[in-house]
Amino acid sequence: DDFTRCRLSQQKERTLGIIKPDACGKVGQILDAIFQSGFKITKLKMCQLTRNEAFEFYQEHQGKTFFDGLISFMTSGPIVAFELMGVDAINKWREVIGPTDSCEARKGAPVSLRARFGKDNQQNACHGSDSLASAAREIEFFFPSVAAVRQNTAKLCECTCCV
Ligand code: GDP
Ligand code: MG
Repeated sequence: DDFTRCRLSQQKERTLGIIKPDACGKVGQILDAIFQSGFKITKLKMCQLTRNEAFEFYQEHQGKTFFDGLISFMTSGPIVAFELMGVDAINKWREVIGPTDSCEARKGAPVSLRARFGKDNQQNACHGSDSLASAAREIEFFFPSVAAVRQNTAKLCECTCCV
């Protein structure tokens, strides 16, 4: 029955994806690819990151040569952030978006979102969490839990489109 089938099915996983500022004109095509790939979109919002928010989101890259450029790029326009759910969603979404460098991505097969919609190794159209720990942190960053919002300990987006 459905209950047994559900209990026997593989564990579902959540991951955090972003359509970056360079690809916001392609939201329709990217959401279509997400649907075709079999993910459930369980949360989604459009917003524009402040520099402080981008700094916090990409804290692991602080000190790297590309950090300043990355912050400027990620705050340059609206983004669409979403939570995806599915079996092995973290790895699967990273496969759908493809390698970090869009130029490299264009050499690969199957054709990935970064190959289709990205430009280079910075303007690469999409983000995907790279581990269970970063998925948890990044989902909480964009979609703070109800408890955190109630206790007013959630970091709320400062941008005008999120209030
Ligand atoms: P990702 O997990 O595939 O997104 O790659 P990383 O976590 O290593 O880097 C985060 C983001 O920083 C990438 O998606 C790019 O937008 C940018 N980035 C990474 N490496 C480089 C680089 O070598 N040069 C530049 N300009 N940007 C980079
Ligand atoms: Mg990364």
